[in-house]
Amino acid sequence: MHAGKVTGEGVVTPMQPSTANNYLGGEVIYPRYYNTINQKAVAEKLAALENGEAGLLTSSGMAAITSVFFALLKPGDHAIFDESLYGGTYHTVMNELERMGVEFTLVKLDAGSLSAHTRDNTKLVYFETPSNPLLKITDIRSVCDQAKSNNITVVLDNTFATPINQNPLDLGADIVIHSGTKYLGGHSDLICGAVVSNGDYIDAIRSTAATFGGNVNAHTASLLERSLKTLGLRVARQNENGQLVAEALRHHSAVARVYYPGLTDHPGHEIAAKQMSGFGGMLSFELNEGMDTRKFLLGLKLVQPTVSLGGVETIICEPVKTSHAKMTPEVREANGIGDTLIRLSVGIEDYSDIVEDLDQALKHA
Ligand SMILES: *Cc1c(COP(=O)(O)O)cnc(C)c1O
Repeated sequence: MHAGKVTGEGVVTPMQPSTANNYLGGEVIYPRYYNTINQKAVAEKLAALENGEAGLLTSSGMAAITSVFFALLKPGDHAIFDESLYGGTYHTVMNELERMGVEFTLVKLDAGSLSAHTRDNTKLVYFETPSNPLLKITDIRSVCDQAKSNNITVVLDNTFATPINQNPLDLGADIVIHSGTKYLGGHSDLICGAVVSNGDYIDAIRSTAATFGGNVNAHTASLLERSLKTLGLRVARQNENGQLVAEALRHHSAVARVYYPGLTDHPGHEIAAKQMSGFGGMLSFELNEGMDTRKFLLGLKLVQPTVSLGGVETIICEPVKTSHAKMTPEVREANGIGDTLIRLSVGIEDYSDIVEDLDQALKHA
């Protein structure tokens, strides 16, 4: 919480929105160079949270992801992606990498599978764990060990876990990415992204990012700095609520299936318990066949049907219509993302209020 504090009188980093700064002192301070005090204060906090050497704050999660791709991949390189990807990331892989002349393979990444897909020109492996929206768990240390022996850079999107529940750099990952729009911001009122790694990677990524211009302004940086002070508290509560809501849904007669790594029958439960210190506030579930999803969503009073996730309010959505709308039905089906799948981002409300609301809406569907 105290990392990245700029010396001064108060506990809050002073807001410095200036784009025109004196250059005679040496370093040129300019927001697009990612070096204003508000950007640096947050980047240092994020680096401390992820046990990394340095961080970079970007204008969105996608800006963080594309900056990493552009900085590290060049024509002729090959990259491996887990097939369980956030919709926007999947879209980038499918539509932009080929134009960059980068070869790629989408695989079911798990312990042992990386080496089977590695080529001489493989430079990068990229995955999310827990994944969006099915909360698939991948063994981070196992993937990193395989990658290390082949000199492949491991990039992990840690958005769902948050740095409170999981620190991939400690398990061997090279670069961690966050959509700061979600848990880091935590109040559904800002958009940003982050990259955390060692100094050399961050220098390379910052240099590329500066030419693409995906920086944040002082106001967003300052809002995020405020949010980060309560990240640990919010996530602790979301872990508790997530577990309780997952268990309540699992025992509900209208619910066919629940995906939550904190449930002992989740296929990734053991690995999650090993590499995460909390199971998080994200879960998804399927209603019994024949139930009316729309009626269920319209019947909710407290839980709000909205896109995005990670905020203090409990929100709900259908991945088919939102985060994964750009995937073809065939690809969605191959990935187990059914038309009736519902994703829940559990907030910090009293858990019984959340469960009661879900229950009354389920009864009417
Ligand atoms: C939302 C999200 C992103 C993209 O972040 P934006 O801030 O919307 O650009 C990337 N990865 C995951 C897992 C996400 O949930």
